[in-house]
Amino acid sequence: MNVACLTFNPVQVNTYVVWDETLECVIVDPGCSNPHEEAQLKAFIESKNLTPVRLLNTHGHFDHIWGNQFVADTWNLKVEAHTLSQEIMERGPSQGAMFGIEVPKAPSIGQEIVAGEKITFGDSSLDTIHVPGHEPGSIVFYSEADHFMICGDVIFNGSIGRTDLYKGDHQLLIDGIKEKLICLPDETVIYSGHGISTTVASEKMRNPYLQ
Ligand SMILES: [Zn+2]
Ligand SMILES: [Zn+2]
Repeated sequence: MNVACLTFNPVQVNTYVVWDETLECVIVDPGCSNPHEEAQLKAFIESKNLTPVRLLNTHGHFDHIWGNQFVADTWNLKVEAHTLSQEIMERGPSQGAMFGIEVPKAPSIGQEIVAGEKITFGDSSLDTIHVPGHEPGSIVFYSEADHFMICGDVIFNGSIGRTDLYKGDHQLLIDGIKEKLICLPDETVIYSGHGISTTVASEKMRNPYLQ
């Protein structure tokens, strides 16, 4: 699988495009917030001759779902996310207002992601791991074969997701990261929702929240 990262919107969210040799792709957390960013995502997809077949969300915070409507409409896809993220998605406009950002109303989840299910596309698949605490429906997409995870705001290079937002839970997040993510192979690359990528080995050693 190939993983590309594009960064969008005032909150600088990482949008990931994952594809394999069949050129089918999934789009994870489309953050595009204006016509210019939408065109950028579309141009990238077209430049690689990709066919988007799934629209996945790691969680429901507004910065990660901003471009859901655009992606759903452009490629005729359903929004896929954990059912516990629905309520959070509905709170997007009021959450955005907290940050002084005007956010559009988001489309509803069209297909529920059940933790543990395999997300298939092309000849590939991603495992789904439920790691609540930053947001109750947070899902991590994991490829054991290709040694990477796309984790949204669960863990960052040297940090973890904030838990002071609606329905955040600090201890639950720490426990989930330790029990479900940091036990994965050391070489696993961690693609986070903001900032640069890291690895399991590096976070195990240096992340101050996990010592
Ligand atoms: Zn978030
Ligand atoms: Zn975020």
